[in-house]
Amino acid sequence: MRAGAGWWSGVIAIDGPAASGKSTLARRLSEELGLAWLDTGAFYRAAALAVLRAGGDLDDEKGAVGVVGRRVISQDGGRTFLDGEDVETEIRTPRVTEAASKVAVLPGVRDIMVQSQRRWVEERGGSAVVEGRDIGSVVFPDAPLKVFLTADSDERARRRLAELGHAPEASAVQESLTRRDRKDATRATSPMRRMPDAVEINTTDLGPDEAVGRVLGLVRATRAAR
Ligand code: C5P
Repeated sequence: MRAGAGWWSGVIAIDGPAASGKSTLARRLSEELGLAWLDTGAFYRAAALAVLRAGGDLDDEKGAVGVVGRRVISQDGGRTFLDGEDVETEIRTPRVTEAASKVAVLPGVRDIMVQSQRRWVEERGGSAVVEGRDIGSVVFPDAPLKVFLTADSDERARRRLAELGHAPEASAVQESLTRRDRKDATRATSPMRRMPDAVEINTTDLGPDEAVGRVLGLVRATRAAR
């Protein structure tokens, strides 16, 4: 299904834990539907990188807000930019990954992220596939279609290992995923949760094509019902 411009309007929110298949699904959907794709996790990663580069303390909210508030984080063509510099590779390192889940706990940093994510979508006419943890609950609570992706933790660790392309200890990868998920699900501000109006899809036994096919079915049904 290659939909023409304007066929779908509004945000498609894709939330779920790390390595549940969000990015693959969101990218493929954006291609099929001709929509922009926003990976909000990359915003938190770029914010963490900014704090690390400034030599800041990842637990110091005031300091982190001071650093992040002065930076411009953006995305284009699946790449992430910090003050215009392409940081896509650097933000995927284990050091930045851990740092991102720390700054994501700070309400002041989240406020800045939410505002710039909303602005990013607005600048693209208000229609996009947006993936993250709080998209259906906080960033775009009125999104006409919300999907919550899950997958067993063994399967998610296997996917993350394959993605990393090198061979860290499998147990270390699983530990890191579990630690980040716990932090995301239990933080006081905007914890990751499935909204009652989100459709849950478990991708443990689903290939990417099947996952995309299921969501395209939901897109069609949502559009028909609007
Ligand atoms: O999705 P990704 O693993 O790249 O996200 C990095 C980190 O950013 C997550 O561990 C999570 O703590 C945080 N995050 C968030 N809210 C989002 C997206 C990501 O708190 N909408």
